[in-house]
Amino acid sequence: MLCPQCREENLEGKPLKGILKVQLPESFRNSKNENDLFDIHNYLPVEKEYFPNLPVGNTPLIHAKNFQNEYGFENIFLKFDGTNPTGSYKDRASFLVSAFAKKFGLHEIVLASTGNAASSMAGIAAATGQKAFIFMPTNAPKAKLVQCLQYGATLIQIQGDYDKAFDLSLKFSEQTGFLNRNTAYNPMTIEGKKTSSFELVSQLKNIDYVFLPAGDGVVLSGVIKGFLDLQFIGLIKNLPKIIAVQAEGSRFLFDAFHFDKWDLNYKAATVADSISVNVARNGYCAVADLKIVNGDVILISDDEILSAQKQLSQKTGIFCEPSSAASFAGLLKIKETISKDATVVCLLTGHGLKDIDSAIKKVNFPNTFPPDLEIISKELKLNM
Ligand SMILES: *Cc1c(COP(=O)(O)O)cnc(C)c1O
Repeated sequence: MLCPQCREENLEGKPLKGILKVQLPESFRNSKNENDLFDIHNYLPVEKEYFPNLPVGNTPLIHAKNFQNEYGFENIFLKFDGTNPTGSYKDRASFLVSAFAKKFGLHEIVLASTGNAASSMAGIAAATGQKAFIFMPTNAPKAKLVQCLQYGATLIQIQGDYDKAFDLSLKFSEQTGFLNRNTAYNPMTIEGKKTSSFELVSQLKNIDYVFLPAGDGVVLSGVIKGFLDLQFIGLIKNLPKIIAVQAEGSRFLFDAFHFDKWDLNYKAATVADSISVNVARNGYCAVADLKIVNGDVILISDDEILSAQKQLSQKTGIFCEPSSAASFAGLLKIKETISKDATVVCLLTGHGLKDIDSAIKKVNFPNTFPPDLEIISKELKLNM
């Protein structure tokens, strides 16, 4: 999966060296014009016939008009990946990994995950009859564990953090020969995650900004790969500005990008579990990609994340998980620097029901009542 030379330098607990990327054939360069129609399957490395029969991707793009009154922005769009079959953006990667495995006759897939990649791979493997072996830290949100078990995956809970689970799952793959789907390590994960960029350019013209949450930085590299491929093909001229958003308590990429600081002993802690990683496995690649496209990484606090989550729920009807709300919180953080008529997309990567323990922090449970409308109307201050 990795470059055979660079992989020799890899050490446990460090960002991966030698990550491979899928390359489009030279004949695709400028083979299309802007506004031409296209089929994403022509630009993926596995043929359509191998994909599981599940509606992954093609997620809705919602024009958040209610934020115009609030913040003056006319064109905020939310791409909601919570509508994927297992409820997160990870399905884009699992879908391609599963198709790849099927094409090459591989029946077992191994991965380490903080939750969403696991529940995603478990669900998609179930749809095709593949077996998923999942290494997960014990602190993953319960809903994500339950998903894995519902889908029938083999769950191996590790007493330790995600990084321990990551390294152990690689050894397990080496010893069993099973296909490993670890994020960044398996090139199909970056490639699968490029698909939202292809969808975006057919949903919206002239995108100025894309805000996305970043943990390991594979969504980041995937989205950038998508836009670079689109430019290579000739389907877009200019790239949007890519803004990766990290939690203050999980800032490995931020420090690497801005200060060239690679703290391998860093310990992350944030309410947004899906972007809580100590060492970003895709770190070298993500920082290089972001520099190529002149993007940026910004930080937001846990409180900003939970407030953004609640605002999204109450103003748009989209209940996303905290890590997803990070992208919108990032927009709010730097809104003064963005022109009010800019076209801005926030990727909302996961469904809110995946982690209700976090969402509960911003709601108050109401009192209970006796079955008596007089008392209820008094309490609600309604004249009935
Ligand atoms: C995995 C995940 C992310 C972050 O993706 P990385 O590739 O680790 O940066 C963001 N949001 C959700 C819901 C995720 O599951």
